Amino acid sequence: MDFDFGEKEEAVRREIREFVRQELPPGWLMGRLEEESRDEDWEFAMSISRRLSKRGWLTMSWPKEYGGKGATLWEQMVYREEAGYWGIPGVTMGVGGVDWVGPSLMLYGTDEQKEEYLPLIASGEPDGVWCTGYSEPDAGSDFASIRTQAVREKDGYVINGQKIWTSAAHRARWMWLAAVTDPNASVKHRGISIFIVDMKSRGITVNPLINYTGYHIFNEVFLDDVRIPLGNLVGEENRGWYQLMHSLSYERGSIGPSAGGFNRRILDELVRYAKETGLFQDPNIRHKLADMAIEVEIAKMFVYQIIWKMSRGDTLVYEPSMDKVFRDMLTERLATTGTEILGAYCQIDPLHRDSRWSKLRGCVESLYWLFPGTSIAAGTDEIEKNIIGQFGLKLPKSY
Ligand SMILES: Cc1cc2nc3c(=O)[nH]c(=O)nc-3n(C[C@H](O)[C@H](O)[C@H](O)COP(=O)(O)OP(=O)(O)OC[C@H]3O[C@@H](n4cnc5c(N)ncnc54)[C@H](O)[C@@H]3O)c2cc1C
Repeated sequence: MDFDFGEKEEAVRREIREFVRQELPPGWLMGRLEEESRDEDWEFAMSISRRLSKRGWLTMSWPKEYGGKGATLWEQMVYREEAGYWGIPGVTMGVGGVDWVGPSLMLYGTDEQKEEYLPLIASGEPDGVWCTGYSEPDAGSDFASIRTQAVREKDGYVINGQKIWTSAAHRARWMWLAAVTDPNASVKHRGISIFIVDMKSRGITVNPLINYTGYHIFNEVFLDDVRIPLGNLVGEENRGWYQLMHSLSYERGSIGPSAGGFNRRILDELVRYAKETGLFQDPNIRHKLADMAIEVEIAKMFVYQIIWKMSRGDTLVYEPSMDKVFRDMLTERLATTGTEILGAYCQIDPLHRDSRWSKLRGCVESLYWLFPGTSIAAGTDEIEKNIIGQFGLKLPKSY
């Protein structure tokens, strides 16, 4: 098997590395999922996002008329892998916009929606930032039980309800919202629709939910008589569930390349640290690092398989779930192995990553804090395994 990339992909790789040299401070390394929390990190991420957009990278595989470059999925994969490795902030700017709102709009959006929102997302500007309103206090895995309702009136919809765990709602200009449009549907999931909601609309309240690391990533969002125009319905009314299966597959599939790049960087940094400190002489540490090297390589194969299938035009069902479950386990092992290697230095809060006591810029500590969340976000591992069982292994449904 030949996994070498062609000249076009290698050119992208070289350009990204040059960009890193020019735009990021020397030795830059930043954990995932952190950039929405502190204002200074967010501002920096936004400034990089704009620069990525100017180079056409932010949405490089999108068609040119929507602000993309018409690049291949392989070129985009190399960009995301490199971006993850070097910790380039601002890559998924628009948390969801780039990875699932844009692609879903291309599938289901009206021409007006495509013209209005896709260039905004591609711009890397604050007005292109999205959040995703799926989960509710009583509806996470059991997503079909959402209660937020959108009632159709003459010239629009009126929305009432509550969303929770909404990442980046405090930064977002738009929400990609799932709401009930037919409360009397014979089956719950046949009564759900997808909407675009302007976060500046009257009736929206965003409350911070500070997580156990002290980061402000999540929020709860209340929608009280929020009025939106009819034109903000995405796709067909009451067909939202089916559309969401695509959006969720984009979401799960989008994380792989950058997470894979980031995990490889952590491994490389741990290997460097073990060499510098002499810890490499401990056979236990050598073996753990070797285990990590094997798993980082396997994770890469999952990603490449997904990109290959996508580039053939296949619809992915269980494949992103396999990738996600494996990556979640790998992330946990990397975090715990890294913590064992760094020892007491891992007690330095990642927000103090510039301290001389912080090793690897607090990235291992940050990974340790955040890995439980990665196995919950975008579908818990149990739900992903149900998908693999049902669609990958064709097991009968057990509930
Ligand atoms: C980092 C992070 C970011 C997030 N960002 C967003 C966001 O931006 N927007 C958004 O809408 N939501 C977001 N979420 C919420 C996330 O989608 C939900 O937390 C997730 O879907 C699980 O729902 P829940 O928390 O209600 O847990 P529950 O669904 O109540 O699950 C509790 C436990 O029961 C298990 N379980 C439930 N049903 C089954 C089943 N059928 N079979 C086997 N086990 C089952 C689950 O695996 C889990 O272990 C985010 C979550 C995290 C951690």
